[in-house]
Amino acid sequence: MILPGATLGVLGGGQLGRMFTLAAHSMGYRVWVLDPDPDSPTGRMADRHLQAAYDDAQALEEMASGCAAVTTEFENVPAETLEFLEARLPVRPGSKAVAIARDRIREKTFIRDLGLATAPFFAITSTDDLEPACASLTMPALLKTSQLGYDGKGQIGIDNLEQAQLAFEDLNRTPCILEECVRLEQELSVVLARSVDGRTAVYPVGENIHVNGILDTTRVPGRIPEAVADKACDMALQLANAMDYCGVLAVEFFLTPDGQLLINEMAPRPHNSGHYSIDACLTSQFEQQVRTLCGLPPGSPRLLSPAVMVNVLGKLWNAGTPRWQYLFAEGHTALHLYGKEEARPGRKMGHYTCMAEDAGQAMRIAERVRAAIDPAAPDDD
Ligand code: AMP
Repeated sequence: MILPGATLGVLGGGQLGRMFTLAAHSMGYRVWVLDPDPDSPTGRMADRHLQAAYDDAQALEEMASGCAAVTTEFENVPAETLEFLEARLPVRPGSKAVAIARDRIREKTFIRDLGLATAPFFAITSTDDLEPACASLTMPALLKTSQLGYDGKGQIGIDNLEQAQLAFEDLNRTPCILEECVRLEQELSVVLARSVDGRTAVYPVGENIHVNGILDTTRVPGRIPEAVADKACDMALQLANAMDYCGVLAVEFFLTPDGQLLINEMAPRPHNSGHYSIDACLTSQFEQQVRTLCGLPPGSPRLLSPAVMVNVLGKLWNAGTPRWQYLFAEGHTALHLYGKEEARPGRKMGHYTCMAEDAGQAMRIAERVRAAIDPAAPDDD
């Protein structure tokens, strides 16, 4: 067990690393972060910022000798980096799980081989793979890059073989999956923590609304039949157990109109759809990351209040500074800003979580806040 006073390392200095650092600090740990960005959200907060590339041998050597254990806030750190660190100190989640989660072909194949349902898909590694894939799938479909895609990036909608060929060229013939577009009744996610000795804590299933491929809102509890929620938790646990996973794992699902539950993807880290846990649960997903990293048992994931989390994207700054005073006027709404200077339209700048007697009421507050903080909205003072 790694106890308070120790130094923890995190690879990646975005908002997830920042919220990990906040949790670790409040529990009495020190944090070092590795991120090449001189002005990263985590770098401003960590006890030490190793400002270097993720494969910088000297920085990795320093991290290995100065930290008691290392975690990651994003899955795209080079595999060799995790393997190098893993040979010297605990790295949780481990390189094997991260390698599966970072690559859609490996991820979807792993899920399918476990007997868990996904949308129909084919791995596309050469132009020749497109014809049989298009012949087997019902159009429309999505061509998604196997690596480095997030928030709907690296995805092209296609209706026929010709479009698939053009799209594959557009993506420079990088390995992809071609996946059938499924009709979405709902999108759901399960966030769980699993300790090094296999103890698990599963958060209540969140109902997610995406806008333009980016998560907009998470509602907890979701409007999900109990049997569906139980099945989603069970599928997420099967995945975690099959990988002998240690850390926080998020699994995203599609629910189709005919009641099929399909796994879309997983993230080997705390997830945007679990941010509500900071304010609305006994133990936040970031505390779980610290606990599982340190060889401690997961804390209780119990929901203390129904909640709705809303992402705040850079486009909110288009017409000026958001009018936060209207958010703070709500007594049960918590704001989290990530300390990013530049507000690009699709950039995640922060989030807020509204808590209320029930999730419907929390949603109404969330929408009221959304309208009130918008600097483009007419002022009714
Ligand atoms: P992803 O990056 O794969 O998580 O996709 C981002 C969003 O695009 C998802 O949350 C869905 O809203 C949508 N999407 C992705 N794949 C599919 C699919 N096969 N069918 C329908 N919608 C999809």
